[in-house]
Amino acid sequence: MTQGGRRILIFLSGAALIGGLTYANRDALLQRAFDRAVDKAIGRDVVASLDPKDIHVGFCGTGSPLPSRDRASACTAIWVGGKLFIFDAGEGAGETLSLMGLPLGKTEGIFLTHLHSDHFEGLGPLALQRWAGTSAATPLPLFGPAGTDQIAQGLTQAYGPDSKFRMAHHGATAVPPSGFGFAGTVIAPGVVYDQDGIRITAFAVPHDPVKPAFGYRLDWQGKSVTISGDTAKSETLAKMAKGTDLLVHEVLNRDMVQAMAEAAARHGQPNRAKIFRDIQSYHASPVEAGEVASAAGAKMLAFTHLVPSVPNAMTGLVIAGADRAYKGPIRAMRDGDVLSINGRDDPSHRNLLD
Ligand SMILES: [Zn+2]
Ligand SMILES: [Zn+2]
Repeated sequence: MTQGGRRILIFLSGAALIGGLTYANRDALLQRAFDRAVDKAIGRDVVASLDPKDIHVGFCGTGSPLPSRDRASACTAIWVGGKLFIFDAGEGAGETLSLMGLPLGKTEGIFLTHLHSDHFEGLGPLALQRWAGTSAATPLPLFGPAGTDQIAQGLTQAYGPDSKFRMAHHGATAVPPSGFGFAGTVIAPGVVYDQDGIRITAFAVPHDPVKPAFGYRLDWQGKSVTISGDTAKSETLAKMAKGTDLLVHEVLNRDMVQAMAEAAARHGQPNRAKIFRDIQSYHASPVEAGEVASAAGAKMLAFTHLVPSVPNAMTGLVIAGADRAYKGPIRAMRDGDVLSINGRDDPSHRNLLD
């Protein structure tokens, strides 16, 4: 055997020996990795890393009712001036917000755009994360169109038995009785929040037959974010988003959804085919969203509520064509993303789940 061959043999037997020892100790190694991860996760201070002069827009759910492994349903969170505002809380939103490390104890309110279930199914877990995770002393405040009060009452009733078990187990200091439940307030278009220089304005958008359906604009210190909610192409939205730093817009790709309708019809599923055809009329295409961003003079366009809710690697397909109508920066958002607005440059990007 040559000298080189011997070296390779020695190396391979060494590697096999180390591999064997590693395998024998795998539980100890995993335990150490777990301990380090727990310490890092529990000691994590995301807020300390967010510039207090900026508006931070977190994407806690970029999906839609069609299931996706990559995305929670509708949720956008805004961290501004030491307060957290959450717009919609679809399924998975509470868990995603918690994993992102956003401070649920600082929640000023959940603002519902409309009462399609993919926009509020995450409220139960979100309320629990806030109540038990931060010892919240007030019920979760919900604001939204007519019916929001009904949702608040219904959820409070539904989670009643669970709340009793939690209080009996952890005591009133950890889970204050006053912090359980949901407090619903029905709002109308206009200014719906105005405190400490933070102003939130609700406005009606077309999402028939869902009426009313709202979009929201948040303004603070000359900076702003506008959230479309679920909407077909909307002139009101273009007007309300005038000069906004960031337009967060929903999107539906009609060619892709039409292909799904045709596949459902081909496979003898006429009801699904009908739903895939129906939903095309009350959402905006990428080009239409681009036209709204352009008419508004928005400084950036961020897509959320992707229909279809494809894996992250395919988002480019869903938003194809938006750049023909809008020349500013465009981004299809992923769960965990944060865009930070300083009012001077294009919003900066990071992902809190990576
Ligand atoms: Zn929706
Ligand atoms: Zn909807």
